[in-house]
Amino acid sequence: MSDRARMPGELIYEHAVQIEQVSDYGVALDRLLSGAATPPAEGARFDFHREGTVPSAKVEGTLNGAPYSAPKRTSMRLAAALLAVVASLVVGPSAALAAAAQHHDQVPGFYGLKVGDLEVTALFDGPGVFDQHWLKGTKARMGEVVKALHEDSHMLDGSETAFLVNTGKQLILVDAGSGTWWGGGAFGRLARSLRSAGYTPEEVDLVLVTHLHADHIGGLTTQDGRRVFPNAEVYVAKAENDFWLSPEIAAQAPKDAQRFFQSAQAIAAPYIKAGKWHTFSGSEPIVDGMHLVPLPGHTPGHTGYEFSSKAQKILFWGDIVHAQRVQLQHPEVTVVFDIDPIAAAATRNQLLPRLAREDVVIAGPHMLFPGLGRLLREGSGYSWTPVPFTDQWVENAPSPQKY
Ligand SMILES: [Zn+2]
Repeated sequence: MSDRARMPGELIYEHAVQIEQVSDYGVALDRLLSGAATPPAEGARFDFHREGTVPSAKVEGTLNGAPYSAPKRTSMRLAAALLAVVASLVVGPSAALAAAAQHHDQVPGFYGLKVGDLEVTALFDGPGVFDQHWLKGTKARMGEVVKALHEDSHMLDGSETAFLVNTGKQLILVDAGSGTWWGGGAFGRLARSLRSAGYTPEEVDLVLVTHLHADHIGGLTTQDGRRVFPNAEVYVAKAENDFWLSPEIAAQAPKDAQRFFQSAQAIAAPYIKAGKWHTFSGSEPIVDGMHLVPLPGHTPGHTGYEFSSKAQKILFWGDIVHAQRVQLQHPEVTVVFDIDPIAAAATRNQLLPRLAREDVVIAGPHMLFPGLGRLLREGSGYSWTPVPFTDQWVENAPSPQKY
């Protein structure tokens, strides 16, 4: 044990250390080192050199004076074990230097889910928070919100998410995130998330748009008027199209609403010019197995898209809920962006019971990422059950293993 006190801290900082009396340093290290051609014996000297971060580390050195390189298979584990051993040996100010470095890389911004035969992928556009002043309700209700926010400052956290549906025949994007048209650069990661999920913008055949607010269509078009999805046909409700793209209505709109009209027109323009902008006014079929669900109130032509496959259903519900911790318990709470708040609340009151009853999977652009979940009745309102995480694509989902 006295050897341990001699471990020089500055060498540890350089990720190189000489180890004596290997057997002293723990069973895990012994076991890992025994994978070497010459198993280390008592008194063996092992100099190791660690290159890169632990997940990609290469461990090389000498063992009893002979060149030693950990087999690739054990290299990562060896690097981690060596670091752990070193950290456990060092006391005092050097200890912090020996700790594993933090790794700030995150997982890519997508999450896939199977709904019948459909592959549905949530595409992260960015994290967001809903401003409490954007919520509208009775004075008493708003007082409760302020109080709850005081106790939990994350109560209004949400996300910007768009969704991709691969039907096997067509690649369909539902909404397109903010791009650079909303949020001052805080969003706009959709295309990157799409590529991370294994697709390219050129592969998208259709874009179904729930409504023409910039945070749902901004990702369609660059600021210089280029189509991000050059091969996609875009579909939007006629009532939505005729409202936001009307110069007459725009001219009469209040000043703070002007930017929504301007962005909708600029984003739509290159698709209209290319003949790739389409409207629907009833229940015309656009995609096999998908039907249109008019959800008016938030905007005049606000529309959900409900896909069914093998008795499973998923509804892309647009802006039915902006603040999940408030509006699911209290569906009567509206938002300042609702063009017709009474209709928006009525739509919510009509829709939520059906979704809870029919066990429909919901894809919500502002729910916490990945924005996929189900509703359960809870008291006089609803609670949100996110889809369970899995790191595998399960073709035929078995019953979950009990734990
Ligand atoms: Zn929105």
